[in-house]
Amino acid sequence: MAKEGVDHRVAVTPEITEKYIAAGHNVTVEAGAGNLAGITDDNYVNAGARIATVENEITTADVVISVNPLSENVIDRLARGTIVVSIQEPFKHPNNMKLFIDRGITAFALEFIPRTTRAQYMDVLSSQACLAGYKAVIEAAHYLDKGFPLLMTSAGTVPAARVLIIGAGVAGLQAIATAKRLGAIVTAFDVRTAAKEQVESLGAKFVDVESQEIANGVYATEMSDSYKLAQEEKLRSVLPGCDVVITTAQIPGKKAPVIVKRDMVESMKRGSIIVDLASKTGGNCEYTVPGETAVVGGVTIIAFNSILDLIATDASRLFAKNVFAFLEFLLQKVGECGIDAAAPAEDIISKTLITHEGKVRNDRIQALV
Ligand code: NAD
Repeated sequence: MAKEGVDHRVAVTPEITEKYIAAGHNVTVEAGAGNLAGITDDNYVNAGARIATVENEITTADVVISVNPLSENVIDRLARGTIVVSIQEPFKHPNNMKLFIDRGITAFALEFIPRTTRAQYMDVLSSQACLAGYKAVIEAAHYLDKGFPLLMTSAGTVPAARVLIIGAGVAGLQAIATAKRLGAIVTAFDVRTAAKEQVESLGAKFVDVESQEIANGVYATEMSDSYKLAQEEKLRSVLPGCDVVITTAQIPGKKAPVIVKRDMVESMKRGSIIVDLASKTGGNCEYTVPGETAVVGGVTIIAFNSILDLIATDASRLFAKNVFAFLEFLLQKVGECGIDAAAPAEDIISKTLITHEGKVRNDRIQALV
């Protein structure tokens, strides 16, 4: 298992180490890999793993698992036929794809796991987004110098905070649920019609945008200029009343839509908080500075580089479970008939397999090599 830069997460936990060993595999963990997620080398050793350095061990691994893409240096050292399982970000790391081809590596991209019911327990994007949505609200509550719930005290009533969630996908729905649990008055909106029912089932109010255009699919698409104008008008009326805004809106494979414009931030009350969870793909707020906290007219705009670092123990726990489920499925299918026969029959394999035996196996990355 390779080191993952400054990411605090780790791709295997002691609990999952025991599961790999019970399934007949040997597990080697890079020294110190779990430190930032609160897991010591001794915890891994007690679970049955060996501890080693990447330099010593990587050439002998059959399967390498990591949270983030491997460095070119590490890929260079892998033996032909090694299976690599991680979030691959091929468009950000095209050289890795070339190296996978040159070195005959069988690489799987966890971010391509289909969003289907059958693959739900392997879906790292969902598990991590869920934790990010939760933590965004906790961080907003920490920065906000007001309470979240309505408090009746002998000195008077403290009103509940008003929270707006923009984008009601996995992260947004968890943010709604968390803000509701803390007692806030929550509103949310999304371009997808299906989101309305989900938002309302969590007890939040859905903000309707008056437009003929609706997004019916599972995923959002870029909306028309007229929809964007109607959306902006609605937001301009809602934002001055909000204490907290959590933005999570993304469009798969594209830059995040800029939804909260400068003048909208300037219209908000001093002390309000915006947490932009879409900052990695450009951000939903015009004032977002990725990786930084900006203050504009008393409004704090927070854009973490990786909010998951702040919840790395649970993020690692869920990531490790997702990957174990994926590998268990993969190795069983490959054991039955080999990758070439298993991939066409199983979308979980065909969609995630990106390179195998010196060839690109995914149309989306063909242009990169
Ligand atoms: P995402 O991270 O791609 O986007 C977050 C949300 O932002 C989405 O709900 C999207 O509709 C919304 N959005 C995009 N542009 C917007 C705009 N201009 N204004 C307001 N909102 C905007 O989404 P996700 O969390 O990956 O989920 C995407 C879809 O996949 C959802 O329909 C979700 O229910 C579905 N999903 C299904 C499964 C499964 O079946 N196993 C698992 C995960 C997600």
